[in-house]
Amino acid sequence: MTGLGWSKLVLLVLVGTALAPRAGADRETPPGRDPKQPVDEAYTERIHKYTTEPYFTSPLVDYLPASKTVPTPQAVLGDVAGAPGILPYAEDVYRYMRLLEKATPRVKVFSIGKTEEGREMIAVAVSSEENLKNLEENRARLAKLADPRAIKLDDAEADKLVGEAVPIYYITGTIHSPETGAPTALMELAYRLAVDESPYIKEIRDGTITLITPVVEVDGRDRMVDVYKWHLAHPKQFYPWLVYWGKYVAHDNNRDAMGVTLKLTENVLHTYVGWKAQVLHDLHESVPYLYDNTIGDEPYNAWIDPILADEWQVIGWNNVAAMTKFGMPGVFAHGDFDTWSPGYLMFIAALHNGISRLYETFGNGGADTEERTLQPEQYARTWYRQNPPLPKVLWSQRDNNNYEETGLLTSLHFFTENKQRFLKNFYLKAKRSTMKPSEEGPAAYVLPADDPRPALQAELLQVLERQAVEISRATSAFSVTLPAKKPKEPAKEKDRKEEKSPPPAPTTREFPAGSYIIRMDQPYSRIADALLDHQYWSPDDPQKTPYDDTGWTFGELYHVQVARVTDSKVLDVPMDRVREVHARGGVKGEGTLFAIANRAEPALATLRYKLHDASIEAAEEPFESAGKKFNRGSFLVRNTSRGDLDRAAAELGVQVTALTAPPEVKTHPVRAARIALVHTWLSTQTEGWWRLALDKLAIPYAYLSTQAIAKISDLNGKYDVILFPPVGYNAGVDAVVNGIPTAWGNPLPWKNTPETPNLVGKNDATDDLRPGLGWDGVAHLQEFVERGGVLLTAMDTSSLALSLGFADGVSTQNANKMKIVGSVVEMRLVDDASPIAYGYEEKGAAYCDNGPILSLSSIAGQRGRRRLGPEMRARPTGRGSVDDPDFAVGRPGMEAPEERKSEIWESPPVSDEQKRNGFRVIPPPRRPRVIFRYADSKDLLVSGLIEGGDEIAQHPAVVDAPSGKGHVVLFSINPVYRGETWGTYAMVLNAILNFDNLNAGRKDAAE
Ligand SMILES: [Zn+2]
Repeated sequence: MTGLGWSKLVLLVLVGTALAPRAGADRETPPGRDPKQPVDEAYTERIHKYTTEPYFTSPLVDYLPASKTVPTPQAVLGDVAGAPGILPYAEDVYRYMRLLEKATPRVKVFSIGKTEEGREMIAVAVSSEENLKNLEENRARLAKLADPRAIKLDDAEADKLVGEAVPIYYITGTIHSPETGAPTALMELAYRLAVDESPYIKEIRDGTITLITPVVEVDGRDRMVDVYKWHLAHPKQFYPWLVYWGKYVAHDNNRDAMGVTLKLTENVLHTYVGWKAQVLHDLHESVPYLYDNTIGDEPYNAWIDPILADEWQVIGWNNVAAMTKFGMPGVFAHGDFDTWSPGYLMFIAALHNGISRLYETFGNGGADTEERTLQPEQYARTWYRQNPPLPKVLWSQRDNNNYEETGLLTSLHFFTENKQRFLKNFYLKAKRSTMKPSEEGPAAYVLPADDPRPALQAELLQVLERQAVEISRATSAFSVTLPAKKPKEPAKEKDRKEEKSPPPAPTTREFPAGSYIIRMDQPYSRIADALLDHQYWSPDDPQKTPYDDTGWTFGELYHVQVARVTDSKVLDVPMDRVREVHARGGVKGEGTLFAIANRAEPALATLRYKLHDASIEAAEEPFESAGKKFNRGSFLVRNTSRGDLDRAAAELGVQVTALTAPPEVKTHPVRAARIALVHTWLSTQTEGWWRLALDKLAIPYAYLSTQAIAKISDLNGKYDVILFPPVGYNAGVDAVVNGIPTAWGNPLPWKNTPETPNLVGKNDATDDLRPGLGWDGVAHLQEFVERGGVLLTAMDTSSLALSLGFADGVSTQNANKMKIVGSVVEMRLVDDASPIAYGYEEKGAAYCDNGPILSLSSIAGQRGRRRLGPEMRARPTGRGSVDDPDFAVGRPGMEAPEERKSEIWESPPVSDEQKRNGFRVIPPPRRPRVIFRYADSKDLLVSGLIEGGDEIAQHPAVVDAPSGKGHVVLFSINPVYRGETWGTYAMVLNAILNFDNLNAGRKDAAE
């Protein structure tokens, strides 16, 4: 049926175009070829050959128009787009785009930046010759719509511009490297848009500028092509999985649109904002056969303009309707993707007043034609998927390309037909963003000039700069009214009557001159608001499976003060625009000894590594000198020239005070520890964020796989600290230790060879990805700690270290009913004398994703159960009142000994019974030390979703467990994550810099 419908439609289309001038009976421009334009017969024949079913194509892509002057993708590929066995490198894709540029004035290629490994990224503009000639004039028009302040928010002027401007539809391909189809689809799409003379395509070409970045993750694309080539050369063997995509992260490259820490995000963001594009449409592959997950499911991000939510629906459902008419099965626009987190690449558009879009099409992870069998839920017919995918089909890369191109062309056409509506919406969204203070508010965010963490404040402001947000600075002190704080939990009716306390009143807050003001009356206010505001995901939300993180509040994660100001007076404060944020640093005062207050700023660690010859000590207690107060952990720097220190401190935004005399305070050396960072071959994604952080801070480290650890018998000879960041992907002890079975199959090399020249890049290599840490590796790590090394673990590697018995007195449990899905939680400082805590305050936020839940015990080898808090001490039924002892008749009474109390995060006191022949009682100096704990249940949530949080509330969040002569430092939180958690970086850096003095300030229990 579907096949017949398809061919009938083609027939109608052809008849329609031959008889009537453009529109069909439905007044729509019919999709399909112009019979007057010749077809490239050989190319078209191959399209048909590689399309596995007639209903896996459409009248838009089942032919290729011929051109005498413009080369088809075959010129570079040697075959048609989507042909089996062919995956071009990025360089080949670019070569083709540049051939197009040479051959036709309808194509222009722009270089948009480089990747971390130095590969080029491009954007290809395809439109009519006239449109491309007038790019700059058009950009000026779009710029006025993008920033309505330029036309004084004048709607009539905007309408004029809307009538004249050509909109820009930006398409991005293959950000996810194993999703391989987009580059060839986009090569062919560019050709069609440049060459096809059918009215349908001509309308797009004349009405819209299509901008294409055919490869977003360029480093990963080249690796993927290598792997595929290896597979073609070894057809009977298993092939290596893509263990690295980009230099740092894999799938998470599509979670970077908040922090903008990766080059690809920065380059696409600049292109999107610089071109003033209306749409950013990102291509992915996973779901059969085309899932427009723009619409997704609730909850929607709370900071987007509702106009955008309507646009998602309008474009998405039109897309489904158009492809349904073509008879293409499996096209749908609703699914279990919530649209909450703004971390996805496409969300650059959503929070910069454009339209974000995303396709999941069906890819084979390569260019083989393969039989694909679906799960029942994938082929089930649902209300939103009336023509579902088929249970089992032969699927080709060409099929995938057909779907991608058809979806894009129908979208482009619909967008062009309605371009005035979308341009007007673009303007309206920008205008409404600019009017934010007088509409929903707030008026501004203020980052005070006296924040004790100026370097971290600058890091946060630089995120906003990368997001194209305008930043201002107050030229004088000012005050604003802050709304009354509501009590956290509403007082009970009874208590309220008794207390008769007055309702909380609004307060005034003073900000010093030099405070940063992020005005909300600017076109990109929404992204700033989304990053700086707090998030709340209700545990009762019908959406039970959040797709990604639920909370991200940047001020909290950076440990930087951010005031949300609704008082519009703030907009009248005299202020200057800041062009480049930089924290002020340098040396002040006289003397040859230099002191630096420690506020847990990562820049201090950078300074330590930079001044390698300087002698630096940490004060173990607070002190006063030169009329200033220095907190515990403050640096005392000697043996360095004032000039060197001043230069380094100025660059890093670190404030240094010269002292004439050394303070009387106990100190220990702060050394530039030799660091190894361990990765598995299972996944390098989550540790990649740790590498990125260390590289950004210019802290050197050796990068070692678990296999390498297994081969180094004297780790202490080479390293002082081993970081073992989270592995992710539910990797348990068996997977990390044993790796992938080697008892069968073939070795899976990850090496540069003539066949695979790009695999290794600047990362790591192995002859076989499969072996894990092995028992040798386990023994080496354990010896490393025994002999005095520091092993630092987080989340799943903390569980791993504990399962392997690396630390006594700590146990781990997985959450039972608790749900903390990528949330910001509050912690409390427990041991402020520990060097790991240097610079931190009593309270601070951290990123948590469901634990693990850690508990302490004073008994070795006790797999402690999670402690449930104070037990119910209800007395049994008997004589007396509730607190008056019972009696036993005929026996003298005896008071029970007072039970020694302990807090949830502490080691429970050793009981008299445990002390009897107590060979398992851990001596106090060997007991683990809790540095930070999770806040009480009622205070735990900062941002995001917490359900059943009492399972982890008050439990240890960061533990320093002595082991042999060394330490295992265990994190339940993830302190280094997605470039978003700068505030907790220093917990890791403190452990590194104080690796040989972690016991400083330790207070042991008496017994
Ligand atoms: Zn993807």
